[in-house]
Amino acid sequence: MKLIIEPAANPAPAGRRAELLANPGFGTSFTDHMVTIKYREGTGWHDARLHARGPISLDPATAVLHYAQEIFEGMKAYKLADGAMALFRPEANAARFNRSARRMAMPELPEALFLESVSALVDIDRHWFPDVDGGSIYLRPFMFASEVFLGVRPAKEYLFMVIASSAGDYFKGAASAINIWVSDHYSRAAPGGTGAAKCGGNYAASLIAQSEATMHGCDQVVFLDAAEHKWVEELGGMNLFFLFSDGRLITPPTSGTILEGITRDSIITLARERGLTVAEVPYSIDQWRDDAASGYLTECFACGTAAVVMPVGKVSSKDGVFTIGAGGPGQITGALRDQLVHIQRGLAPDPHGWVRRI
Ligand SMILES: *Cc1c(COP(=O)(O)O)cnc(C)c1O
Repeated sequence: MKLIIEPAANPAPAGRRAELLANPGFGTSFTDHMVTIKYREGTGWHDARLHARGPISLDPATAVLHYAQEIFEGMKAYKLADGAMALFRPEANAARFNRSARRMAMPELPEALFLESVSALVDIDRHWFPDVDGGSIYLRPFMFASEVFLGVRPAKEYLFMVIASSAGDYFKGAASAINIWVSDHYSRAAPGGTGAAKCGGNYAASLIAQSEATMHGCDQVVFLDAAEHKWVEELGGMNLFFLFSDGRLITPPTSGTILEGITRDSIITLARERGLTVAEVPYSIDQWRDDAASGYLTECFACGTAAVVMPVGKVSSKDGVFTIGAGGPGQITGALRDQLVHIQRGLAPDPHGWVRRI
């Protein structure tokens, strides 16, 4: 199937675009185009189009509005030093999208079509790349049950879409470390649940804990395992790493309840190359507190596409607060972040072939 390209008749005027690009924020400054591809049982994927971005109209009985059969991806396009646009490990997003689809009883999208969709959108909207610190074009591929039907079963119709937005730094003033809140009551994911799928429902379930974190003056919430409320899992949308004074770097294993982050996987590779001993092992909240107190834990950070790498300085819970290291961004954390960002932007060698020019 061919992706039909229909350039927008009324793109944003250059002045309006320049205004948005000067201060893009995150998830608010959208580009001129979007991709839509339809699926129907029996017909398969059809009507693949890249066209003017705009509202879509949905019947009130559209299945996704009732049973949340929806998945998404998050990825960034960067401008390389020579002016070319590039994606970072997009095949990994395409593969994960289909793993999420399988878990949510949705049809898989051919990876080539996923890649063509994101590449064509970046290509046509490349002038939406903001020349600000940490700037990127943030891509949001997603798919939802579009069948008009209230019965409870996997839908027979779906819509795949990609939208794009100009993005600055995810956390404004990201140089400093964040403060995270330990949710001892709410769970994000349980064994057998959807924790490893990138679905909107996981986020819906995490929002109340995020509000609790905000209420306690924290930036993000960290979830513990659902069974014992003991093992540290991840933040609402970022994976966690812990670095110790003997050069050990650990992250919780992704055994079904944790999202397999592409940033997480890239950091594991870069850290090993740096000579750190990396292990994917369970880590308890009590050990975390003890290791921070003894000084054995020297650095901690969260990572994900949107924010890349975020140092964690303080951890708060109903039992009090503890500080990691001096409470600021750690040195190795900063070095790993810089190395990853430099590879993504074509400022450092890319021995793993992670950067895909468009
Ligand atoms: C998307 C996401 C991440 C980060 O994944 P990346 O591929 O690194 O962007 C981590 N945790 C959750 C729950 C996520 O949804």
